[in-house]
Amino acid sequence: MLQCTAVTEVPLSDALTALVTMDGGPDDPSSALAPTPYVLCELGEHDARTEHAALLSPAEVPHRPALWFFWTGDGTDRVHRVVNVPWCPAVLRTFATDSVLQCAFFDRHTAPHSWGVTDPLGDLIAGPATSGDVANDPKERPQP
Ligand SMILES: [Zn+2]
Ligand SMILES: [Zn+2]
Repeated sequence: MLQCTAVTEVPLSDALTALVTMDGGPDDPSSALAPTPYVLCELGEHDARTEHAALLSPAEVPHRPALWFFWTGDGTDRVHRVVNVPWCPAVLRTFATDSVLQCAFFDRHTAPHSWGVTDPLGDLIAGPATSGDVANDPKERPQP
């Protein structure tokens, strides 16, 4: 399934406030946020009733709930929230290579899991590749 193409601007004051009050949040909240306030929905394509979702910051402690930005609508009609949510507990086990891939989405997200989503725009938005394209692949992003 292709990745949802929704992009939105994160209100940095909201994100910072959430990071500062986050249980197990980063030591330096202001440096935890991306330099650009724009985020991409990370989910697979979904219907309009489902909220778009983008990871703002993982917790410092592995497996603790991470900070996500959820939104619906666009422009002045946009409704958003910044919340801590647990990770999706799903794992993809590859017996041939004895590897385990954890879903990089939040708990109770819409189908499919992160390894089922391909990102057609990631390379374009990320700009020139520095350490290869792997880092831009949501399937390869390590879940803390
Ligand atoms: Zn979306
Ligand atoms: Zn999942």
